Amino acid sequence: MDYVYAPGKNHLFVPGPVNIPEPVLRAMNRNNEDYRSPAIPALTKTLLEDVKKIFKSTTGTPFMIPTTGTGAWESALTNTLSPGDRIVSFLIGQFSLLWIDQQQRLNFNVDVVESEWGQGANLDVLESKLAEDGGHTIKAICIVHNETATGVTNDLSKVRFLLDKYKHPALLLVDGVSSICALDFRMDEWGVDVALTGSQKALSLPTGIGIICASPKALEASKTSTSVKVFFDWKDYLKFYKLGTYWPYTPSIQLLYGLRAALDLLFEEGIDNVIARHSRLGKATRLAVEAWGLKNCTQKEEWYSDTVTAVLVPSYIDSSEIVRRAWKRYNLSLGLGLNKVAGKVFRIGHLGNLNELQLLGCLAGVEMILKDVGYPVKLGSGVAAASAYLQNTIPLIPSRI
Ligand code: PLP
Repeated sequence: MDYVYAPGKNHLFVPGPVNIPEPVLRAMNRNNEDYRSPAIPALTKTLLEDVKKIFKSTTGTPFMIPTTGTGAWESALTNTLSPGDRIVSFLIGQFSLLWIDQQQRLNFNVDVVESEWGQGANLDVLESKLAEDGGHTIKAICIVHNETATGVTNDLSKVRFLLDKYKHPALLLVDGVSSICALDFRMDEWGVDVALTGSQKALSLPTGIGIICASPKALEASKTSTSVKVFFDWKDYLKFYKLGTYWPYTPSIQLLYGLRAALDLLFEEGIDNVIARHSRLGKATRLAVEAWGLKNCTQKEEWYSDTVTAVLVPSYIDSSEIVRRAWKRYNLSLGLGLNKVAGKVFRIGHLGNLNELQLLGCLAGVEMILKDVGYPVKLGSGVAAASAYLQNTIPLIPSRI
């Protein structure tokens, strides 16, 4: 029973948590099991092997911790760094801001590189900092791959290029919470040292597993890190990996079966096809925004995000009213503008278990709401622009060819 029921399905277009596929829901509808029986370690072994594929890593070591993205952040930091270590961290929106707040509260020495919200990480500043740091005082670069608050995707290959250019040994720690399993992500190729995501985002599971992948260099760094950690300590996991029992404490059995089903679905579709689907959804959304005569919060095309679009509204409209109406009148859930962009943007999340026709339903809803709040939109204009593009680009469904 829905907490506040409305007929039909809720159109869930927040940028996480996202729609859970039916096979995943069914896979999770099961009893608890003894996690020390032979069955759960056998299942866990396949998960640990397969989860590396979503990071495009063969050399990394994955950890599946009962936590959220925020816990995964903490695990990445406290396992690889020591208090006082200098970190260069990019502030470009609410989630990078929260990560920086965590870094400061954990007593790292955070060198913040700030950009206007709607812009990507300022890599020119990074370059000058690396050029000046011959003594290698910078221990890590922390970057949010996809800033969910503004719909900005950073180019990680450029960060790696700069680190290599200056032969700088700093660790590269990446928040992939709203990118991994949806956007192109290449952990090994881009020399990412710790990558992380949360199960409720593009993996399309309930919230509850923080998935982290650590490079050999990050594991090496973890041997000397002096940050206090208990629940997030990778050493406890590694000890149980060696024993072949895998779990230092109780995992959610249901989520493990859900993760198995979610990975099977991703592999059946093909990770590259999943990425291409997100690219279509992102482009179609941007075409609709343009047709409505509205602006994307993301200031340059190179930063456009294929998982979330933050739409700027004219100053006479409060974007929170759009989000309120969406839910109250159309059974549609959109993302609010956060912090600096509160009231100024609403967000359309287009990630995870989602197809093109669902997106068109959302876009039709947004048009009606825009008219409701007094914006002079031509009904059907965004849907027409998006569907004209989609009609030419949607491939046959891989499992039905
Ligand atoms: N990082 C990004 C990019 C996010 O979008 C979010 C949440 O939306 C988080 C981190 C925090 O994740 P959680 O809410 O699962 O702790």
